[in-house]
Amino acid sequence: MKKNLVFLGAPGAGKGTIAALLIKDSPLVHISTGDIFRSEIKNKTELGTKAKSFIDSGALVPDELVVDMVVSRLQCEDCNSGYILDGFPRTVPQAELLDKALMKMNKPLDAVIFFNAKDEVLLERLTARITCKECGVNFNKLFSPPKKDGVCDMCNGVLYQRSDDSLETAKNRLVVYKEQTEPVIGYYKGPMLKEIDAEPATDINYNALKKAIEL
Ligand SMILES: [Zn+2]
Repeated sequence: MKKNLVFLGAPGAGKGTIAALLIKDSPLVHISTGDIFRSEIKNKTELGTKAKSFIDSGALVPDELVVDMVVSRLQCEDCNSGYILDGFPRTVPQAELLDKALMKMNKPLDAVIFFNAKDEVLLERLTARITCKECGVNFNKLFSPPKKDGVCDMCNGVLYQRSDDSLETAKNRLVVYKEQTEPVIGYYKGPMLKEIDAEPATDINYNALKKAIEL
């Protein structure tokens, strides 16, 4: 099977859900930059301390530093059996830096999976979460709707949409994705890039993915 993987696709495409299924069926390690940031900062490593100083001042963490943190994670022994980079690289400069580092480590990528879905499908998924005003429990209009419209199953509280789940926020996330990350797909264009239709149900996507990576 192909073992050093990148998962690309817009927010809402389901990369994380598929990655969670794949790590149960394979020895691959699921790597998200968010997790790496949190652990480097928590452990007060040199890289983590640097990253924190950018975050605290409200600045973006520079590409070099992001890639250094990912590469330091890829050097851990568990990654020898393969890895999934979930939503990384996020920009073309990150992709270039990653390529250079992987070449040095002699651990090149085996496949880049692009999860493709139309904007309307992505927006529907990104705005599907509704939250109870009383007890804070989450429902999903698509996958786990409440029994009664607008009413919490647990406490009969009123359900509402948090501002980070609003249509406006979702649209903004897609704009940022198109500007910064979509060009990364062009960067990887070639035999290594495998496109998967991310619109059907999760089990269908997952089977398509298993085929693409020869699992
Ligand atoms: Zn409730």
